[in-house]
Amino acid sequence: MSRVYNFSAGPATLPVDVLEQAKAEMLDWQGTGMSVMEMSHRGKAFVSIAEDATARLRRLLNVPDNYSVLFLQGGAAGQFAGVPLNLMGSNPKADYIVTGNWGKKAIKEAAKYGQPNKAASSEDTTFTTIPGRNSWQLTDDAAFVHYTPNETIQGVEFQDTPDVGGVPLVADMSSNFLSRPVDVSKYGVIYAGAQKNAGPAGITMVIVRNDLMGKPQSGCPMILDYQQQADADSMLNTPACYAWYMCGLTFAWLENQGGLDAIEAINKRKAAKLYDFIDASDFYSNPVETSVRSRMNVPFLLADDNLNADFLAQAEAADLTTLKGHRSVGGMRASIYNAMPESGVDALIDFMQTFEKKNG
Ligand code: PMP
Repeated sequence: MSRVYNFSAGPATLPVDVLEQAKAEMLDWQGTGMSVMEMSHRGKAFVSIAEDATARLRRLLNVPDNYSVLFLQGGAAGQFAGVPLNLMGSNPKADYIVTGNWGKKAIKEAAKYGQPNKAASSEDTTFTTIPGRNSWQLTDDAAFVHYTPNETIQGVEFQDTPDVGGVPLVADMSSNFLSRPVDVSKYGVIYAGAQKNAGPAGITMVIVRNDLMGKPQSGCPMILDYQQQADADSMLNTPACYAWYMCGLTFAWLENQGGLDAIEAINKRKAAKLYDFIDASDFYSNPVETSVRSRMNVPFLLADDNLNADFLAQAEAADLTTLKGHRSVGGMRASIYNAMPESGVDALIDFMQTFEKKNG
């Protein structure tokens, strides 16, 4: 068996221990004589898998009792609609902070259901900064404030939770979920697609404060209705059973690493190594303002774009894959989520050094 270092932005690399356990349990999950893929979602075995995963996620994030934890389908993009459908039941106004492509998509979708206000945007800096909190033009009576703590494409990350007073704060945490501790009590809703830090694609976690549920718009589809899903333990219809199980294994792996404080320390070290190397080089550069650089997604440019194809081909030959940057920013992007071992970052830096020597 040979595994590469996979720097994909998502679906992304998973911990080998998690894949090994899934492999060991594939044909016969704990004496049931069947794989998790073949079980009824209403049966005792799968219900125990779902409950275990949910309990682990609650423990990892210290989710307060007055919040529900949902495992839904439709991706984070589904929640671009789910949030307004649930939270704009009686008030169509909401503020959006746009710091990258995903925030742009979120506000566009919200406009189908209400009147979102772009309260701040860093598009004038091609999303390489985060507008200072005092520049945000917040509405007095907004139903919520939405932001994207980590913009996956631009590699821009909020380092702290913004203060928006008493208005419910909604976060699309897809690409830095579970990479650092978070005070859930500061949020109204947190949502995240699994396929970066939490498991495989196909399942989306929504953590929602209970008082925000139960007042959806009349057209809200039942499968996006937070209250109905909470009442049904996220099984209003058939859930993404196998993805849910894989998330549970990933949560257990995270607990074994020492939880979110421990993984944060590792993530800080990995990101610092890579940024320090890029900053010290005249050949590579990262366009993002230093104070808001992402620990998860590290975009970088080569001094000469004509070398991009060679860089990617040689990286691939060195078992360093999926380093091509998003087409909207060009260059390269190394996604270094929880499951990317430090040895992967070291191998990437070694490769970049050698490439620079040959071409710089
Ligand atoms: N938000 C962010 C920050 C993302 O990175 C992504 C996926 N890359 C999405 C939303 C969309 O997620 P999904 O494909 O699960 O709908």
